[in-house]
Formats: sequence, C-alpha cells, structure tokens
Amino acid sequence: MKDEGMYSLGIDIGSTTSKGALLADGNRIVATALRNAGIGTDGPEEVVKELLRASDLDEGQIGVTVSTGYGRTLYPEAHYRVSELTCHALGAHFIFPGIRTLIDIGGQDAKVISLDGAGRMSNFQMNDKCAAGTGRFLDVMAGILQLRAGDLAGEAALAESICPISSTCTVFAESEVISHLAQGVNRKDLVAGICESVATRTGSLAKRVGVTPPLAMSGGVALNEGVRGALSRYLGVEILFSPLAQFFGGLGAALYGYQTYNKEN
Ligand code: ADP
Repeated sequence: MKDEGMYSLGIDIGSTTSKGALLADGNRIVATALRNAGIGTDGPEEVVKELLRASDLDEGQIGVTVSTGYGRTLYPEAHYRVSELTCHALGAHFIFPGIRTLIDIGGQDAKVISLDGAGRMSNFQMNDKCAAGTGRFLDVMAGILQLRAGDLAGEAALAESICPISSTCTVFAESEVISHLAQGVNRKDLVAGICESVATRTGSLAKRVGVTPPLAMSGGVALNEGVRGALSRYLGVEILFSPLAQFFGGLGAALYGYQTYNKEN
C-alpha cells in the first residue's frame, strides 16, 4: 500500500460513459478508468473501484472526491459537484497549458469553451438540443452501418471521396444514409460524410464563440480522427489531441478537488 502524497479523485458521469482520474499531489496522474455505462448505472462505482485497484489504494486514502458531468448529482460520495465546463477546461489546461479554446463532443452534447491563460472558462456555447453534431449522431449512423463508434475513423480514412450528408436532423440523416446505401454508395465514403457532418455542425458553433488557438478537443468524439481532421480543415486551425481527451472532465474534477482541499485545509 502506498502512503505518500495527497490523492484526489475525479469522477465524470456522462450520458453514455463514466470516466475517472486519480491524481497524486495535483500533478501526477496515478490512474484513469472508463466504463461504457453512464447516468443511472453502476458505471461510476465501477470506475472508482477500478481506480483504487489500479493504484493499490483504499478509499480511506483518497483525500477528496469530486463529481462532474451530466450525472454529477447522482454520486453521493462526492465532496464537491462541479460543472463539466469548469472541469473540462481545467483538465485540458493540465494536459495542454496555455490552451485557449476547447471543443468537447460527448455522447449527447457538444460544447465550445474559451479559456483564459490560467485554464478558467471565460465563455462557452453549447448544443444540447439536437443529436446532430454529437456522439449520438455518430453512434446512430455507426449502428446503421453495422460498425462501432471506434471503427468510424479507420473507415473514413479509406474513403475515396466524401459523400455529403445534407440532412442536419439525425432522423432524416438516418433515412438519407440508408437511401445512399441502397443506391450503392461506398460505405467508407458515407462514413467520411458522417464525420464531416459532425465537424461542420460543431465547427459552426465554434465560429459563433470565436476560435483562439491553441485549440484542443475533449470528450469521446475527440478519439475519432475523421471528425478531428474534418473540424481542423473547417476551422483552418490545428487541433491538439491527447489520448486522454475523454478523461479531461475527470482529470479537471480531480484537479479542482486538489486545489479546493488545499485552500480549505
Ligand atoms: P458522455 O460523457 O456524454 O458519456 P463521452 O465524452 O464519453 O460522452 O463520449 C461518448 C461518445 O464518444 C460516444 O457517443 C461515441 O460516439 C464516442 N466514442 C467513444 N469511444 C470512441 C472511440 N474509441 N473512438 C471514437 N469515438 C468514440
């Protein structure tokens, strides 16, 4: 058992997944964990168990726990509950110090966050009204094409041309994709069009906020290189990427916990 350091735990309870991060002394990532089970499941408890197992710590050694995400109020063990905007900004700044814009695309919404030089959110725009431009759109389209969300980027990379999806509504886009399939359009070209549709939708949200580089992406959709590439082309700006992108909310929550604990003790 380890006994050195102050440990803070961040748990990000999303619409489709639960993610957690464990930090030592607010500066070292000890463990991260993810379960494909979000709000209303035992995903958060499983993530915490996994973090403790991976770090060889027991619950009593965690100094502070912070929950964030859409389901943050549903984790009673948390000492603090903090908005995902604040946490994603903090987590992104931890990985990419000096970052000024963050685009977070999760399972059911998309957010564009402006940051000040210290990693605090200064402005944001959100699309939480419509599945288009979110992971939900990608998940529905992947389902029609008998793919998983994680397969989309690989498929899009092999496209010979991009088949544009003209419907912005997910339900209509679903029919459009089925009709393209019936006409014999190549699946790879369709996937490239699907990735581009999400990028264009979120890119126009970003233009409304204003994009100041350096720019990074967070959330599960950041793992999709097809969306990242299309968004970068649409905005004409390089997008920083970390394999930890889906953990920025949890990381930020752990960081918030560390900073608050230090202020109050
Ligand atoms: P939430 O916090 O709302 O649960 P996440 O930020 O965890 O959402 O993102 C979930 C979305 O990320 C899914 O809807 C899916 O489209 C996408 N996703 C998850 N894993 C991958 C992956 N390995 N590659 C590409 N996309 C992914």
